[in-house]
Amino acid sequence: MMNPTILIVEDEKKISDLVAKNLEAAGFRCYRAMDGQKGLEEFKRIQPALIVLDIMLPQVDGLEVARRIRRDSTVPILMLTARSTEGDKVLGFEIGADDYLTKPFSVIELVARVRALLRRSAIASEDEVLTRGELIMDPSRLEVKRGEESIDLSTLEFNLLYFLASRPGRVFSRDALMEQVWGDDRIVDTRSIDSLISRLRRKIEEDPSRPKHIQTVWGAGYRFTGTSS
Ligand code: CA
Repeated sequence: MMNPTILIVEDEKKISDLVAKNLEAAGFRCYRAMDGQKGLEEFKRIQPALIVLDIMLPQVDGLEVARRIRRDSTVPILMLTARSTEGDKVLGFEIGADDYLTKPFSVIELVARVRALLRRSAIASEDEVLTRGELIMDPSRLEVKRGEESIDLSTLEFNLLYFLASRPGRVFSRDALMEQVWGDDRIVDTRSIDSLISRLRRKIEEDPSRPKHIQTVWGAGYRFTGTSS
């Protein structure tokens, strides 16, 4: 897996160096911007997994940067500030910062906060509503719709569909899918996955004998095809 990318927006070189050095040592890839304008440009270009954002910045300040990023992104934002007034903190959170560190901060604390934010955002994105062609899957309600029509799935069926549809194009063996659906302590064999797949096809495919979404890859397993929109 690729290391998560972090964008550091901080005009004080000493602090930027320190943050980058420690995050890189913890396995993250870091990009840096020295002012708010550059930060916004780099954000668009890099699409980082997280942003470390100083509040006091030249050009566009950190609060404004956060405000603009939040217009169309849920990327985790960890704010840095020299001031530790409650007012700043409240304002930062209102704008959509996810966490807050007051300078001087410990680098161990910084790395721990970054890890926690990334963990939280990974869990949140697992809960995303997926749209694939005419299929819409909502994991918080275990609900699938094909256009306007709502389709009833069992939890197992939903989990299998959602797992495949979140990874379109990738081929998974029957074993990998069984582990995903039933977990480690399964007492099922590969025929169970085949029958689960055929039940799923009968429910979601227009023509189950010629499935458009869940395809069999002979000798390998199954994969989901369908465009995201
Ligand atoms: Ca600053």
